[in-house]
Amino acid sequence: MDSADVKRTGSDSLKEELRRYAQQQDSLFGDIIVPRMQSGAQVAPALPSHGDSSDRGEAGARVEGTKPQGENSILLERLMLVNEPWVDAPSLDTLNQMICSCQKCPLGRTRTKFVFGVGNPNADIVVIGEAPGADEDAKGEPFVGAAGQLLNKILSAINFRREDVYICNILKCRPPGNRTPERSEVEQCEPYLLRQLDLIKPKFILALGLTAANTLLNRKARMGELRGAVHDYNGIKVVVTYHPAALLRNPQWKRPTWEDVQMLRRMYDETRSSQPA
Ligand code: SF4
Repeated sequence: MDSADVKRTGSDSLKEELRRYAQQQDSLFGDIIVPRMQSGAQVAPALPSHGDSSDRGEAGARVEGTKPQGENSILLERLMLVNEPWVDAPSLDTLNQMICSCQKCPLGRTRTKFVFGVGNPNADIVVIGEAPGADEDAKGEPFVGAAGQLLNKILSAINFRREDVYICNILKCRPPGNRTPERSEVEQCEPYLLRQLDLIKPKFILALGLTAANTLLNRKARMGELRGAVHDYNGIKVVVTYHPAALLRNPQWKRPTWEDVQMLRRMYDETRSSQPA
């Protein structure tokens, strides 16, 4: 073995050790302790500049995450920690059938309908809220009623139809009285979301509302700290904006929401234009 081989072997075993350590820490602490490691990671695409550019792409999006390339090894690694049959579901429909009777947390007993998700199974963008509300619980579909109609308008403002994207929630069952999801409920339900994302393989997540965003990102931040930045959820870029139900109560937030989804649209367009023809 020459010196180059020795160096390579040492570097490979160090990488393997780091990977094992990251996996172990990840299973214990999630995103809080260990920054995600992935091959081919690169900085999020830049957006047109507005003001401070210290930690921003050339177009104004603060970069706090990394970009997945091809197969999402982070999602796979997290799902490998789950030892349940639905993890191998080959499609969204099968996954839905396998988990729709779930009673893992108390919300299974109080729900009217299980709310899996709807939309394009190959979507580049997945829209994620925190949990079903009353209308969703009654219909078994996420983002229906007035908030759903407003979401459709928001998507339409950036030239997407509802059926172009995939829409779901972190929790699949409604918390009574629309209370904030408990940490234990999120821990039980989030693996289903991971498998949904693993099957869809989106490039972007649009997180709707502070609770959904903080839950996904494992943060306790204010909306002002999360908006205008590109975050990371298991190797998928995340843009955060207001929940449509909050917009119905606070119409002054419509403009910032419009800015957020415009940022998402520009990133989506840049990603598309950078793909080989
Ligand atoms: S909220 Fe999630 S974990 Fe709880 S019962 Fe419903 S599907 Fe199962």
